[in-house]
Amino acid sequence: MAAPLLVKTKRALRSLLAERRMESAPRGRPFDVGLVPTMGCLHEGHLSLARRARVENDLVVMSLFVNPTQFGVGEDFDRYPRDLDRDLHLAGDVGVDAVFHPLPGEMYDPGHCTWVDVEGLTDHLCAAGRPGHFRGVATIVTKLFGLCRPERAYFGQKDAQQAFLIRRMAADLDLGVEVVVCPIVRDPDGLAMSSRNVYLTPAERGQAPTLYRALREAEAAIEAGERDAGVVTATVLSVLAEAPLGRVDYVEVVTAEDLQPVDVILGEVVVAVAVRFGATRLIDNVMVKA
Ligand code: AMP
Repeated sequence: MAAPLLVKTKRALRSLLAERRMESAPRGRPFDVGLVPTMGCLHEGHLSLARRARVENDLVVMSLFVNPTQFGVGEDFDRYPRDLDRDLHLAGDVGVDAVFHPLPGEMYDPGHCTWVDVEGLTDHLCAAGRPGHFRGVATIVTKLFGLCRPERAYFGQKDAQQAFLIRRMAADLDLGVEVVVCPIVRDPDGLAMSSRNVYLTPAERGQAPTLYRALREAEAAIEAGERDAGVVTATVLSVLAEAPLGRVDYVEVVTAEDLQPVDVILGEVVVAVAVRFGATRLIDNVMVKA
């Protein structure tokens, strides 16, 4: 497929979208824009979102932006993997029309002082260990929604808390964007794809599929009738102990509806884990119906 248009400024993005919407107006039918926000270093997980966006929209915009405001002090902002040429190629292969790749200074004016905070999600899952992270995510996604005015935006279930928060934010602020959450794409050995997997040493990579193995054990236990979240958590921890290079950040069982921790499993839940291998933090989750 054709290479996507590379757009580096907000102004160019706005005019491209205005032009395309105007061109389609005489046809008298809706013109739908699908947005796929990413930090680049694309893998099959990102591409699955873009493929879905391609099917459901007239124009697909993918953003490639390593957003500085969602990284904490000492996190991997500087060394986050970046490979624009490869990303453009892959995005073109799945039919992305335009890639928005701004510099940080283009997105954040020196006087920037407006932030989007989604309350009530600050004390568990990834929010506990990454203060300020979701504020950065919610702010950049709001800005991207404002720039692209998409009909739909695509996120991965891999980042379950992020997807939940964006959906909540879009509803609370009447942003008029349908938030589409797509399934987790995995390597053949079960490891959830992530741009950060490239950081893993061969030994760490060998142990990393333990996360998914542990989650599958949790899933099997719940499906077999276990309703005590403490027991399920202990099961996950016992499997994770088989990966001695990993340090567990959290194991939580939360409701699928609002991601609140539960003691007793009823209805649909998400079992979520975060494990550090050296400086690399991996996350994964499964949704299970009791
Ligand atoms: P990132 O570039 O890591 O910020 O991810 C951009 C989008 O891709 C987010 O909505 C992620 O949830 C989604 N994503 C990342 N990894 C996967 C995966 N393995 N499967 C499905 N979606 C993913």
